[in-house]
Amino acid sequence: MTHALEDRFGRVATDLRVSLTDRCNLRCSYCMPAEGLDWMPTEQTLTDDEVVRLVTIGVQRLGVTEVRFTGGEPLLRRGLPDIVRRTHELGGVETSLTTNALGLARTASTLAAAGLDRVNVSLDTVRADTFATITRRERLHDVIAGLEAARDAGLGPVKINAVLLRGVNDDQAGELLRWCITEGYHLRFIEQMPLDAQHGWSRTEMVTADEILEHLERDFELSPAEEPRGSAPAELFRVDGGPATVGVIASVTRPFCGDCDRVRLTADGQVRNCLFARSESDLRTALRGGADDEEIAARWVVAMQGKLAGHGIDDPSFLQPTRPMSAIGG
Ligand code: SAM
Ligand code: SF4
Repeated sequence: MTHALEDRFGRVATDLRVSLTDRCNLRCSYCMPAEGLDWMPTEQTLTDDEVVRLVTIGVQRLGVTEVRFTGGEPLLRRGLPDIVRRTHELGGVETSLTTNALGLARTASTLAAAGLDRVNVSLDTVRADTFATITRRERLHDVIAGLEAARDAGLGPVKINAVLLRGVNDDQAGELLRWCITEGYHLRFIEQMPLDAQHGWSRTEMVTADEILEHLERDFELSPAEEPRGSAPAELFRVDGGPATVGVIASVTRPFCGDCDRVRLTADGQVRNCLFARSESDLRTALRGGADDEEIAARWVVAMQGKLAGHGIDDPSFLQPTRPMSAIGG
């Protein structure tokens, strides 16, 4: 029997973000502290078979049509190609990966052969010194090699996600866009969100969508792209008349919660109906307790009922979720 992951406001989730690990080999300053975090214990992390079982329930019973693997850093998960292959074999589902691209140079062709459709790569600068400042690792060359391998393997259109930080890389927006256009990557800037483990986010310090556009307009002529946005979080602009575009994901200052079609599954098997949710629904315990697919699907449907109308970041009562972004899956 098929149900829809519909919430009380009539939004239907069809886009499933699956976090495969909370671990990472970078330490982006807007995401986690230099020393890393207390990683999730292995026994709490879903096995590859458990991940595939939940994804299968999502696709076959709950109307999920898109599965994006994320983390933490999903390339650190050894079983990733197999998980991708088994998801792809379900049929009727698009698969993608959000990654920092470390190691992608080695794995892109294997992932493409397993049925991966696309990748989104995080890259905030093309300057090696700024990269090392933001990520606390000197690995820019690996990211660039990973991007090239993804493009060569047909994992496109390759999208790049960038976060601008005041006084660090906000003067490099135009430079990054020019590089992406030359290389054929689709760049989207994401407003920094209050999801870092060290609670360092501040409304006044974050670089807003208006500021991002102001920076870009110093170097380029931007015009709204004509295609309807639908549930896509990025607002798209044509660059110098096109065909190149740039996206701005203004989660904080121009929220798009009303059109949200996403639901998240954490690496330890918790359903989160929103990035900013303050509660979760535990599917792992049901799974390991012997629940059948119908019962798990029913729990998942119930989990959507608590989805709020909006994230409320601007509300004085807003509280950052306990889990940081790296443990939720961006
Ligand atoms: N490690 C992978 C990566 O970096 O692409 C996947 C996980 S990461 C949490 C997913 C996305 O979240 C990345 O594009 C990253 O830039 C973004 N991100 C992390 N912390 C953020 C924050 N506080 N605000 C906005 N975006 C953030
Ligand atoms: Fe790792 Fe991605 Fe967080 Fe950077 S943004 S520390 S790459 S999980």
